[in-house]
Amino acid sequence: MSTRTKGAVLIADGLGDRPVAELDGRTPLEAADTPYLDRVAAEGECGQMDPIAPGVRPGSDTAHLAILGYDPFKVYTGRGPFEALGIGMDVQRGDICFRCNFATIEGELTLTSDGKFTGAKVADRRAQRISEGTHDLAEAVNGMTVEDVTCYVKESVEHRAALVLRGPGLGADVSDVDPHDADAPPHGAEGKDESSRKTARIANQFVLRSWEALKDHPVNQQRVADGKLPANIVMPRGAGIAPHLEAFAERYGVPGACIVETGLIAGIGRYLEMTVPEVPGATGGMDTDELALARAVVEMLADHDFVLCNLKAPDLGGHDSDVRGKMVGAQKFDNLVAAVLDGAADEVHVAITADHATPISFGDHSGDTVPIAICGPNVRPDSVRSFGERAVVAGGLARIRGSDIMPILTNLMGVQEKFGA
Ligand SMILES: [Zn+2]
Repeated sequence: MSTRTKGAVLIADGLGDRPVAELDGRTPLEAADTPYLDRVAAEGECGQMDPIAPGVRPGSDTAHLAILGYDPFKVYTGRGPFEALGIGMDVQRGDICFRCNFATIEGELTLTSDGKFTGAKVADRRAQRISEGTHDLAEAVNGMTVEDVTCYVKESVEHRAALVLRGPGLGADVSDVDPHDADAPPHGAEGKDESSRKTARIANQFVLRSWEALKDHPVNQQRVADGKLPANIVMPRGAGIAPHLEAFAERYGVPGACIVETGLIAGIGRYLEMTVPEVPGATGGMDTDELALARAVVEMLADHDFVLCNLKAPDLGGHDSDVRGKMVGAQKFDNLVAAVLDGAADEVHVAITADHATPISFGDHSGDTVPIAICGPNVRPDSVRSFGERAVVAGGLARIRGSDIMPILTNLMGVQEKFGA
């Protein structure tokens, strides 16, 4: 006799924190007025969560993979594929993805038959942090074929871009072309095995041809006329293979959606073939419309069994070491949770948590635990009455990992297969 429910995981990005002196030793979450988060804690089951594992500092990508039930230690192949997904590139399983810079080299670049670059050296790895014209530069090198491999390029912010290689027999154990230093020539990429040697050969050819295509490009002619350095080469680094992840609906047997503000997490959702709608008003900044996010969660729950939502604002306060900003972020999360509880039907399990801590005192992601609370039908309420880093320590969930969320939730939702007879 099982009744099925739906599930929502509402994530306040970077919400976890450490004691702050100017808050009399409270954390921003403990100090902020968050009645609806406290309501979830009081009605639900609470605990601490290690997004990845105790003490491990999560990235946003690895944390969300873990929370969605994909072990990042097994599936995370470096930043390349996730950067490419994050800027909206089409990435397919088995593609080789690099992070890239538009850079400046001086001299006449040549590639020797044994895969070394000579004749030119790097003058600026970031082409003076070029910010305009990179779309046109990317277009000039996008879609070129080298042997039987297609090379896709898309610009990101400033001098950054991503390169996706698609073709047969490619490996990802490839060294960087970017020498990570000015005054050195670009490094000829080297592969550790047969398939990675093919990738290296293609990457080196691509780099040479990027220089040929960009050195006299109108964007660069204008830059030189303006006394700026030309962005005359694309230098790849950080190769990774797009992992063979099961689609979300295949893994859990129910359709899922992502309501998120950052490209990186949207890219993961699309890769898992989840529904990832655009949410007007979701800016990813402090001015974001958290109620628009909440409405999108409620809408998606109408025809999806699972929704993940991420509100970016609390993380911004953490990175800026802005105590008030982080408290505002926590209150925005409270508004979001209130609107979801109000709008969603009773047969929904709601989990509230963070993907990692971004402590004010640290200004970056830390390996501290974050609080989690789950409410909905048939949960066993515990003695915890407020949602805070320390209050949840007394809760019934005790201390779990990010990768425990989906099993716990799908168990409550009644959609999990039995393990064994
Ligand atoms: Zn994050």
